[in-house]
Amino acid sequence: MSFLKRLSSMLTGGAPGERDRDAFWLYVRCDRCGEKLRLRVDRKFEIHPDYDQGGYVLRKEIMDGRCFQLMYAEIHFDPAWNITSRDLHGEGTFLTPEEFATPAP
Ligand SMILES: [Zn+2]
Repeated sequence: MSFLKRLSSMLTGGAPGERDRDAFWLYVRCDRCGEKLRLRVDRKFEIHPDYDQGGYVLRKEIMDGRCFQLMYAEIHFDPAWNITSRDLHGEGTFLTPEEFATPAP
């Protein structure tokens, strides 16, 4: 691969968010209106050490922009950032990035 080709694939490769190392992406669907939400969570500011269970914990309020339902996510991570448990309060469901990208049938 030529230098220029490599350079341009470097510049265009991936979505802008993917080089954002502090970002954790949260995908949620509102089960009341079906709206899918993608939220950027900042690991530095929004995810905190979990002193009870070890690892990290994220607690986040999620406001759906269509029906304005307020949901509340709580996600626990181990020290290697693997999700160990997660809970979504409200009428919502966690999605995978693939499910988020797939249009509703
Ligand atoms: Zn909704």
